[in-house]
Amino acid sequence: MSRDRAFAECRRAYYFHYYGSWEGWKPAAPASVRELYVLKNLGNRFTFAGRVVHETIADVLNRHRYGREIGLEEAKQAALDSLRRGFRESREGLYRNDPKRNVGLFEHEYAVDLPDEDWVRMRDRVDRCLDNFYASEIRSVILETRVENWLPIDALDTFTFEGTKVYVAPDFALKTPQGNAIVIDWKTGRPGTEEDRKQIVCYGLFARDKWEVDPKRAIGELHYLQTGESRVVTLDEAALKEGVSHMRESIRSMKELLTDPALNRAEPERFPLTEDRTVCETCRFRRVCWSDWPPHDSVRER
Ligand code: SF4
Repeated sequence: MSRDRAFAECRRAYYFHYYGSWEGWKPAAPASVRELYVLKNLGNRFTFAGRVVHETIADVLNRHRYGREIGLEEAKQAALDSLRRGFRESREGLYRNDPKRNVGLFEHEYAVDLPDEDWVRMRDRVDRCLDNFYASEIRSVILETRVENWLPIDALDTFTFEGTKVYVAPDFALKTPQGNAIVIDWKTGRPGTEEDRKQIVCYGLFARDKWEVDPKRAIGELHYLQTGESRVVTLDEAALKEGVSHMRESIRSMKELLTDPALNRAEPERFPLTEDRTVCETCRFRRVCWSDWPPHDSVRER
């Protein structure tokens, strides 16, 4: 539930992401909306490395589906090519014209002075994740499972929760020969946050809705690819019940700030800026809130 996380971190950033940048892709969009749209699509070197790992694994599994096996070294080379391509697109600023097709990174947009070693570390990070994926037991489980038992996931899947459309993106799911369902999420960040658990429980609700998975026979698995650790999360009735109350509360507090919940209309004034400058420091929208950085004055209301 990245939306939930964004809301908790800074209401104004949440507004910019989900409302202020809306229709920024249109040629006739006002400059301020276009700017928010470009910034919204920025990643940073860590999220970009994570994205490359996810895309590489998805590609490896997808090719397996059609009978083509990709070895570790080939996967690493493909990932390195993606990293280089994305880095180049970002450094050359191509994302400003087409943020959807070109990678844009916070580090380039905000001219962060990074030594080359920091970029090299991203390559090492991606390699480590792929090493751990290839060595993992879950990879063997997936490859040994008939593809007919892989559960279909669309890039932008949704389910309806008490009248609200919820976007989800589990990485993989399958049914075992015994009829149990496993919902899998690869993680490229630090292991073990409570947010990860909440997120996979939300995927459990999606699994029940989309595939009619019996909660008694469902588990979630979080695989932390940087360290090779994993965590199993039960997706039984109790866990789903807890997930339902968390989502209900989260959606309620988001809707509470809308000017018109029925039409999903929002105004920035109702979404305050965070007072935590450490959040602003790495925020994609920083230049919109703070023309000078670091700020000298107290929190400004816009
Ligand atoms: S710069 Fe700070 S206040 Fe502004 S949107 Fe980002 S986190 Fe929120």
